[in-house]
Amino acid sequence: MMSNNLPSIIEMIETLALISEDKDFLTRRYLTSQHKKVNQLVADWMSVAGMKAWQDPIGNIVGRYEGHENGLPALMLGSHLDTVVNAGKYDGMLGVVTAIHCVASLQRQGKRLPFAVEVIGFADEEGTRFKSTYLGSKAVAGTFDLDTLDRLDSDGISMKEALNTFGLDIKNIPQAARSKNEIAAYVELHIEQGPVLEDKNLAAGIVTEIAGATRLSVEIVGKAGHAGTVPLNLRQDALVTASECIVKLEKIAKASANTVVTVGEILIKPGASNVIPGNAQFTVDLRSTENSVRTKVENEIQQALQEICTKRKTKLITTKTHSAESTICSKNVINQLDDAFVKSGHPTYFLPSGAGHDTAAMSDLTETGMIFLRCREGISHNPAESVKMGDIEVGFQIMLKFIENFKPL
Ligand SMILES: [Zn+2]
Repeated sequence: MMSNNLPSIIEMIETLALISEDKDFLTRRYLTSQHKKVNQLVADWMSVAGMKAWQDPIGNIVGRYEGHENGLPALMLGSHLDTVVNAGKYDGMLGVVTAIHCVASLQRQGKRLPFAVEVIGFADEEGTRFKSTYLGSKAVAGTFDLDTLDRLDSDGISMKEALNTFGLDIKNIPQAARSKNEIAAYVELHIEQGPVLEDKNLAAGIVTEIAGATRLSVEIVGKAGHAGTVPLNLRQDALVTASECIVKLEKIAKASANTVVTVGEILIKPGASNVIPGNAQFTVDLRSTENSVRTKVENEIQQALQEICTKRKTKLITTKTHSAESTICSKNVINQLDDAFVKSGHPTYFLPSGAGHDTAAMSDLTETGMIFLRCREGISHNPAESVKMGDIEVGFQIMLKFIENFKPL
Protein backbone atom coordinates (compact mmCIF):
# COMPACT_ATOMS: atom_id res chain seq x y z
CA MET A 1 0.00 0.00 0.00
CA MET A 2 3.01 2.31 -0.40
CA SER A 3 3.15 4.80 -3.18
CA ASN A 4 6.25 6.53 -4.47
CA ASN A 5 7.26 9.35 -2.14
CA LEU A 6 4.07 8.98 -0.12
CA PRO A 7 4.53 8.15 3.57
CA SER A 8 2.59 5.08 4.78
CA ILE A 9 -0.72 5.58 6.60
CA ILE A 10 0.91 5.10 9.98
CA GLU A 11 3.81 7.45 9.09
CA MET A 12 1.23 10.08 8.16
CA ILE A 13 -0.59 9.53 11.47
CA GLU A 14 2.68 9.90 13.41
CA THR A 15 3.65 13.04 11.47
CA LEU A 16 0.26 14.70 12.04
CA ALA A 17 0.39 13.81 15.75
CA LEU A 18 3.54 15.94 16.14
CA ILE A 19 1.89 19.10 14.82
CA SER A 20 0.46 20.32 18.10
CA GLU A 21 -0.16 23.56 19.97
CA ASP A 22 1.28 21.91 23.08
CA LYS A 23 4.67 20.25 23.04
CA ASP A 24 3.68 17.64 25.63
CA PHE A 25 0.47 16.38 24.08
CA LEU A 26 -1.65 16.66 20.95
CA THR A 27 -3.99 19.63 20.68
CA ARG A 28 -4.76 21.13 17.30
CA ARG A 29 -7.61 23.59 17.26
CA TYR A 30 -9.30 25.28 14.35
CA LEU A 31 -7.55 28.25 12.65
CA THR A 32 -4.27 27.94 14.52
CA SER A 33 -0.85 27.96 12.87
CA GLN A 34 -0.80 24.17 13.44
CA HIS A 35 -4.03 23.88 11.46
CA LYS A 36 -2.37 25.78 8.62
CA LYS A 37 0.70 23.57 8.75
CA VAL A 38 -1.38 20.38 8.65
CA ASN A 39 -3.40 21.67 5.68
CA GLN A 40 -0.19 22.34 3.72
CA LEU A 41 1.17 18.91 4.54
CA VAL A 42 -2.06 17.10 3.65
CA ALA A 43 -2.30 19.11 0.41
CA ASP A 44 1.22 17.94 -0.49
CA TRP A 45 0.26 14.30 0.14
CA MET A 46 -2.89 14.77 -1.95
CA SER A 47 -0.79 16.10 -4.83
CA VAL A 48 1.61 13.15 -4.63
CA ALA A 49 -1.44 10.84 -4.68
CA GLY A 50 -2.56 12.40 -7.98
CA MET A 51 -5.10 14.91 -6.72
CA LYS A 52 -5.54 18.61 -7.35
CA ALA A 53 -5.62 20.13 -3.85
CA TRP A 54 -7.06 23.39 -2.51
CA GLN A 55 -8.12 24.99 0.75
CA ASP A 56 -11.78 26.02 0.79
CA PRO A 57 -13.12 29.28 2.32
CA ILE A 58 -13.79 27.77 5.80
CA GLY A 59 -10.32 26.19 5.98
CA ASN A 60 -11.07 22.60 4.92
CA ILE A 61 -8.44 21.00 2.73
CA VAL A 62 -9.81 19.25 -0.35
CA GLY A 63 -8.20 17.03 -2.99
CA ARG A 64 -9.82 15.93 -6.24
CA TYR A 65 -9.00 12.98 -8.49
CA GLU A 66 -10.89 13.25 -11.76
CA GLY A 67 -12.87 10.36 -13.24
CA HIS A 68 -13.12 9.20 -16.86
CA GLU A 69 -13.61 12.80 -17.82
CA ASN A 70 -13.22 16.09 -15.96
CA GLY A 71 -16.05 17.53 -13.90
CA LEU A 72 -18.00 14.37 -13.01
CA PRO A 73 -19.89 14.23 -9.68
CA ALA A 74 -17.59 13.14 -6.86
CA LEU A 75 -17.59 10.41 -4.29
CA MET A 76 -16.30 12.37 -1.29
CA LEU A 77 -14.24 10.62 1.40
CA GLY A 78 -12.69 12.05 4.51
CA SER A 79 -12.96 13.08 8.12
CA HIS A 80 -11.57 15.88 10.30
CA LEU A 81 -8.06 17.14 11.04
CA ASP A 82 -8.75 19.13 14.23
CA THR A 83 -8.53 17.56 17.69
CA VAL A 84 -9.76 17.90 21.24
CA VAL A 85 -7.29 19.03 23.95
CA ASN A 86 -4.85 16.21 24.80
CA ALA A 87 -6.18 14.08 21.96
CA GLY A 88 -5.44 10.70 20.45
CA LYS A 89 -3.82 10.59 17.02
CA TYR A 90 -6.38 8.51 15.09
CA ASP A 91 -9.70 10.28 15.72
CA GLY A 92 -10.41 12.07 12.44
CA MET A 93 -6.96 11.87 10.89
CA LEU A 94 -7.18 8.15 10.12
CA GLY A 95 -10.16 8.69 7.81
CA VAL A 96 -8.36 11.40 5.85
CA VAL A 97 -5.03 9.63 5.36
CA THR A 98 -6.64 6.25 4.53
CA ALA A 99 -8.68 7.97 1.81
CA ILE A 100 -5.51 9.62 0.40
CA HIS A 101 -3.93 6.17 0.21
CA CYS A 102 -6.93 4.77 -1.64
CA VAL A 103 -6.61 7.50 -4.28
CA ALA A 104 -2.85 6.88 -4.46
CA SER A 105 -3.65 3.25 -5.21
CA LEU A 106 -6.02 4.25 -8.05
CA GLN A 107 -3.32 6.50 -9.46
CA ARG A 108 -0.71 3.76 -9.24
CA GLN A 109 -3.00 1.39 -11.13
CA GLY A 110 -3.70 4.14 -13.69
CA LYS A 111 -7.38 3.68 -12.90
CA ARG A 112 -10.03 6.30 -13.64
CA LEU A 113 -13.62 5.73 -12.53
CA PRO A 114 -17.01 6.84 -13.87
CA PHE A 115 -17.03 9.50 -11.10
CA ALA A 116 -14.46 11.76 -9.47
CA VAL A 117 -13.05 10.98 -6.02
CA GLU A 118 -12.52 13.82 -3.57
CA VAL A 119 -10.79 13.60 -0.21
CA ILE A 120 -11.60 16.22 2.42
CA GLY A 121 -9.89 17.04 5.70
CA PHE A 122 -12.49 18.98 7.66
CA ALA A 123 -11.16 22.00 9.52
CA ASP A 124 -13.28 21.75 12.67
CA GLU A 125 -15.43 18.87 13.82
CA GLU A 126 -14.74 18.78 17.54
CA GLY A 127 -15.72 22.38 18.29
CA THR A 128 -12.78 22.65 20.71
CA ARG A 129 -12.08 26.32 20.00
CA PHE A 130 -15.46 27.98 19.46
CA LYS A 131 -17.71 25.44 21.22
CA SER A 132 -19.69 24.84 18.07
CA THR A 133 -19.24 21.54 16.22
CA TYR A 134 -19.06 20.51 12.53
CA LEU A 135 -17.95 23.98 11.38
CA GLY A 136 -16.11 22.53 8.36
CA SER A 137 -18.72 20.02 7.23
CA LYS A 138 -21.64 22.41 7.82
CA ALA A 139 -19.99 24.94 5.50
CA VAL A 140 -19.67 22.24 2.82
CA ALA A 141 -23.26 21.09 3.36
CA GLY A 142 -24.46 24.70 3.12
CA THR A 143 -25.84 24.75 6.67
CA PHE A 144 -23.17 26.92 8.32
CA ASP A 145 -24.78 29.45 10.63
CA LEU A 146 -23.16 32.88 10.08
CA ASP A 147 -23.95 33.84 13.70
CA THR A 148 -21.17 31.42 14.69
CA LEU A 149 -18.68 34.00 13.39
CA ASP A 150 -19.25 36.10 16.52
CA ARG A 151 -18.36 33.28 18.90
CA LEU A 152 -15.30 33.87 21.05
CA ASP A 153 -12.54 31.44 21.96
CA SER A 154 -11.09 31.26 25.50
CA ASP A 155 -8.76 34.19 24.70
CA GLY A 156 -11.65 36.40 23.59
CA ILE A 157 -10.79 36.09 19.87
CA SER A 158 -13.86 35.87 17.65
CA MET A 159 -14.12 33.30 14.89
CA LYS A 160 -14.33 36.23 12.46
CA GLU A 161 -10.95 37.58 13.65
CA ALA A 162 -9.41 34.11 13.68
CA LEU A 163 -10.48 33.49 10.07
CA ASN A 164 -8.99 36.83 9.09
CA THR A 165 -5.66 36.07 10.80
CA PHE A 166 -5.63 32.66 9.11
CA GLY A 167 -5.97 34.43 5.76
CA LEU A 168 -9.59 33.57 4.97
CA ASP A 169 -12.26 36.07 3.95
CA ILE A 170 -15.61 35.59 5.70
CA LYS A 171 -17.40 36.91 2.62
CA ASN A 172 -16.35 33.74 0.78
CA ILE A 173 -17.73 31.24 3.33
CA PRO A 174 -20.97 30.58 1.40
CA GLN A 175 -18.74 29.44 -1.50
CA ALA A 176 -17.52 26.52 0.60
CA ALA A 177 -20.97 24.98 0.10
CA ARG A 178 -21.12 22.27 -2.54
CA SER A 179 -24.16 21.51 -4.65
CA LYS A 180 -26.07 18.23 -4.55
CA ASN A 181 -25.17 17.60 -8.24
CA GLU A 182 -21.45 17.83 -7.52
CA ILE A 183 -21.31 15.28 -4.69
CA ALA A 184 -22.62 11.74 -5.25
CA ALA A 185 -22.01 10.53 -1.68
CA TYR A 186 -19.87 11.14 1.40
CA VAL A 187 -18.23 8.21 3.17
CA GLU A 188 -16.15 8.47 6.32
CA LEU A 189 -13.83 5.97 7.94
CA HIS A 190 -13.43 6.62 11.68
CA ILE A 191 -12.42 4.82 14.84
CA GLU A 192 -15.41 3.43 16.69
CA GLN A 193 -14.72 5.31 19.97
CA GLY A 194 -16.61 2.54 21.75
CA PRO A 195 -15.94 -1.07 22.77
CA VAL A 196 -18.45 -2.97 20.60
CA LEU A 197 -16.21 -4.11 17.70
CA GLU A 198 -13.48 -5.19 20.12
CA ASP A 199 -16.07 -7.13 22.09
CA LYS A 200 -17.23 -8.85 18.86
CA ASN A 201 -13.61 -9.50 17.86
CA LEU A 202 -14.08 -7.62 14.58
CA ALA A 203 -11.72 -5.17 12.87
CA ALA A 204 -14.43 -3.12 11.19
CA GLY A 205 -18.14 -2.43 11.06
CA ILE A 206 -20.71 -0.47 9.08
CA VAL A 207 -22.55 2.40 10.75
CA THR A 208 -26.32 2.33 10.37
CA GLU A 209 -27.18 5.62 12.08
CA ILE A 210 -25.69 8.36 14.23
CA ALA A 211 -27.45 8.98 17.52
CA GLY A 212 -29.18 12.26 18.14
CA ALA A 213 -28.42 14.08 21.38
CA THR A 214 -30.08 16.38 23.86
CA ARG A 215 -28.15 18.18 26.57
CA LEU A 216 -29.82 19.70 29.59
CA SER A 217 -28.46 21.87 32.32
CA VAL A 218 -30.31 21.15 35.58
CA GLU A 219 -30.31 23.32 38.69
CA ILE A 220 -31.90 22.26 41.95
CA VAL A 221 -32.48 24.98 44.51
CA GLY A 222 -32.91 23.82 48.08
CA LYS A 223 -31.96 25.49 51.34
CA ALA A 224 -28.51 25.52 52.91
CA GLY A 225 -28.42 24.94 56.65
CA HIS A 226 -26.46 23.65 59.61
CA ALA A 227 -25.48 19.99 59.29
CA GLY A 228 -26.01 19.44 63.02
CA THR A 229 -29.17 21.33 63.88
CA VAL A 230 -31.67 20.81 61.04
CA PRO A 231 -33.50 17.44 61.36
CA LEU A 232 -33.52 15.28 58.22
CA ASN A 233 -37.27 15.53 57.71
CA LEU A 234 -37.13 19.36 57.69
CA ARG A 235 -34.35 19.69 55.11
CA GLN A 236 -34.44 20.86 51.51
CA ASP A 237 -31.19 19.17 50.55
CA ALA A 238 -30.31 19.95 46.93
CA LEU A 239 -27.70 17.21 46.67
CA VAL A 240 -29.90 14.41 48.02
CA THR A 241 -32.57 15.57 45.55
CA ALA A 242 -30.00 15.57 42.71
CA SER A 243 -28.83 12.09 43.71
CA GLU A 244 -32.33 10.67 43.54
CA CYS A 245 -32.81 12.39 40.16
CA ILE A 246 -29.58 10.95 38.73
CA VAL A 247 -30.44 7.37 39.76
CA LYS A 248 -33.89 7.85 38.26
CA LEU A 249 -32.40 9.07 34.95
CA GLU A 250 -30.45 5.86 34.59
CA LYS A 251 -33.55 3.83 35.28
CA ILE A 252 -35.58 5.70 32.64
CA ALA A 253 -32.86 5.34 29.97
CA LYS A 254 -32.40 1.64 30.71
CA ALA A 255 -36.07 1.07 29.95
CA SER A 256 -35.64 2.44 26.38
CA ALA A 257 -33.79 0.63 23.57
CA ASN A 258 -30.60 2.18 22.12
CA THR A 259 -30.69 5.04 24.60
CA VAL A 260 -27.95 6.24 26.95
CA VAL A 261 -27.93 9.00 29.52
CA THR A 262 -24.93 10.50 31.30
CA VAL A 263 -24.50 13.00 34.11
CA GLY A 264 -20.92 14.12 33.55
CA GLU A 265 -20.71 17.31 35.59
CA ILE A 266 -22.06 18.19 39.00
CA LEU A 267 -21.52 21.26 41.13
CA ILE A 268 -22.59 21.64 44.76
CA LYS A 269 -22.96 24.90 46.69
CA PRO A 270 -21.89 26.04 49.14
CA GLY A 271 -19.69 22.92 49.29
CA ALA A 272 -18.65 22.57 52.92
CA SER A 273 -18.60 19.41 55.03
CA ASN A 274 -20.85 20.83 57.76
CA VAL A 275 -23.39 22.61 55.55
CA ILE A 276 -26.50 21.10 53.93
CA PRO A 277 -26.13 21.65 50.16
CA GLY A 278 -28.46 24.47 49.15
CA ASN A 279 -27.83 24.27 45.43
CA ALA A 280 -26.92 21.48 43.02
CA GLN A 281 -26.28 21.85 39.30
CA PHE A 282 -25.70 18.98 36.91
CA THR A 283 -25.67 18.24 33.19
CA VAL A 284 -27.69 15.58 31.38
CA ASP A 285 -26.44 14.15 28.08
CA LEU A 286 -29.14 12.03 26.46
CA ARG A 287 -28.58 10.09 23.23
CA SER A 288 -30.70 7.78 21.17
CA THR A 289 -30.64 6.50 17.60
CA GLU A 290 -34.34 7.30 17.26
CA ASN A 291 -35.61 10.86 17.48
CA SER A 292 -39.05 9.80 18.73
CA VAL A 293 -37.49 7.73 21.54
CA ARG A 294 -35.19 10.59 22.52
CA THR A 295 -38.13 12.99 22.73
CA LYS A 296 -40.17 10.51 24.75
CA VAL A 297 -37.31 9.87 27.19
CA GLU A 298 -36.63 13.59 27.49
CA ASN A 299 -40.26 14.18 28.49
CA GLU A 300 -40.13 11.31 30.99
CA ILE A 301 -36.97 12.79 32.48
CA GLN A 302 -38.49 16.26 32.82
CA GLN A 303 -41.55 14.81 34.52
CA ALA A 304 -39.58 12.54 36.88
CA LEU A 305 -37.24 15.37 37.93
CA GLN A 306 -40.22 17.60 38.68
CA GLU A 307 -41.89 14.90 40.80
CA ILE A 308 -38.72 14.28 42.82
CA CYS A 309 -38.16 18.02 43.39
CA THR A 310 -41.77 18.54 44.45
CA LYS A 311 -41.56 15.63 46.87
CA ARG A 312 -38.34 17.00 48.38
CA LYS A 313 -39.59 20.61 48.45
CA THR A 314 -36.82 21.86 46.18
CA LYS A 315 -37.09 24.03 43.09
CA LEU A 316 -36.19 22.67 39.65
CA ILE A 317 -34.76 24.76 36.80
CA THR A 318 -33.89 22.97 33.54
CA THR A 319 -32.41 24.51 30.40
CA LYS A 320 -31.90 22.73 27.09
CA THR A 321 -28.37 23.59 25.93
CA HIS A 322 -28.10 21.40 22.83
CA SER A 323 -30.29 19.31 20.58
CA ALA A 324 -29.31 17.35 17.45
CA GLU A 325 -31.44 14.98 15.42
CA SER A 326 -30.21 11.47 14.71
CA THR A 327 -28.89 10.70 11.21
CA ILE A 328 -29.78 7.58 9.28
CA CYS A 329 -27.03 6.48 6.90
CA SER A 330 -28.03 5.89 3.27
CA LYS A 331 -29.40 2.41 2.54
CA ASN A 332 -27.70 2.51 -0.87
CA VAL A 333 -24.28 3.34 0.63
CA ILE A 334 -24.74 0.76 3.41
CA ASN A 335 -25.49 -1.94 0.81
CA GLN A 336 -22.42 -1.00 -1.21
CA LEU A 337 -20.27 -1.00 1.95
CA ASP A 338 -21.71 -4.43 2.77
CA ASP A 339 -20.53 -5.66 -0.68
CA ALA A 340 -17.09 -4.15 -0.11
CA PHE A 341 -16.77 -5.99 3.23
CA VAL A 342 -17.78 -9.29 1.65
CA LYS A 343 -15.52 -8.81 -1.42
CA SER A 344 -12.54 -8.03 0.82
CA GLY A 345 -13.22 -11.12 2.92
CA HIS A 346 -14.41 -9.42 6.10
CA PRO A 347 -17.54 -10.31 8.02
CA THR A 348 -20.19 -7.62 7.84
CA TYR A 349 -21.33 -6.14 11.12
CA PHE A 350 -23.76 -3.25 11.57
CA LEU A 351 -23.73 -0.88 14.51
CA PRO A 352 -25.04 2.57 15.43
CA SER A 353 -22.73 5.45 16.35
CA GLY A 354 -23.24 7.00 19.75
CA ALA A 355 -20.81 9.81 18.92
CA GLY A 356 -21.47 12.60 16.43
CA HIS A 357 -19.43 12.84 13.19
CA ASP A 358 -19.04 15.07 10.12
CA THR A 359 -21.23 12.48 8.40
CA ALA A 360 -24.20 13.86 10.38
CA ALA A 361 -23.68 17.34 8.89
CA MET A 362 -22.94 15.95 5.41
CA SER A 363 -26.22 14.03 5.37
CA ASP A 364 -27.96 17.38 4.75
CA LEU A 365 -26.14 17.49 1.41
CA THR A 366 -25.78 13.95 0.13
CA GLU A 367 -26.01 10.18 0.70
CA THR A 368 -23.74 9.20 3.57
CA GLY A 369 -22.11 6.14 5.08
CA MET A 370 -19.43 5.29 7.63
CA ILE A 371 -16.90 2.54 8.27
CA PHE A 372 -15.92 2.09 11.91
CA LEU A 373 -12.57 0.59 12.89
CA ARG A 374 -11.97 -1.13 16.20
CA CYS A 375 -9.90 0.85 18.71
CA ARG A 376 -8.34 -0.48 21.89
CA GLU A 377 -10.82 -0.67 24.77
CA GLY A 378 -13.01 1.82 22.92
CA ILE A 379 -10.83 4.65 24.25
CA SER A 380 -10.80 7.99 22.39
CA HIS A 381 -10.31 11.70 23.11
CA ASN A 382 -7.30 10.47 25.04
CA PRO A 383 -3.61 9.96 24.15
CA ALA A 384 -4.13 6.25 24.93
CA GLU A 385 -6.23 5.97 21.74
CA SER A 386 -4.86 2.99 19.80
CA VAL A 387 -5.62 1.12 16.56
CA LYS A 388 -3.90 -2.08 15.40
CA MET A 389 -1.81 -1.88 12.21
CA GLY A 390 -3.67 -4.90 10.86
CA ASP A 391 -7.02 -3.18 11.36
CA ILE A 392 -5.79 -0.08 9.51
CA GLU A 393 -4.89 -2.35 6.57
CA VAL A 394 -8.40 -3.90 6.74
CA GLY A 395 -9.97 -0.43 6.69
CA PHE A 396 -7.85 0.55 3.69
CA GLN A 397 -8.77 -2.63 1.75
CA ILE A 398 -12.50 -2.22 2.43
CA MET A 399 -12.49 1.45 1.48
CA LEU A 400 -10.56 0.81 -1.73
CA LYS A 401 -12.93 -2.02 -2.69
CA PHE A 402 -15.88 0.27 -1.97
CA ILE A 403 -14.48 3.06 -4.17
CA GLU A 404 -13.59 0.75 -7.06
CA ASN A 405 -17.12 -0.69 -7.16
CA PHE A 406 -19.06 2.44 -6.21
CA LYS A 407 -22.21 3.15 -8.19
CA PRO A 408 -23.76 6.60 -7.74
CA LEU A 409 -27.52 6.47 -7.20
ZN1 LIG B 1 -13.74 12.30 15.21
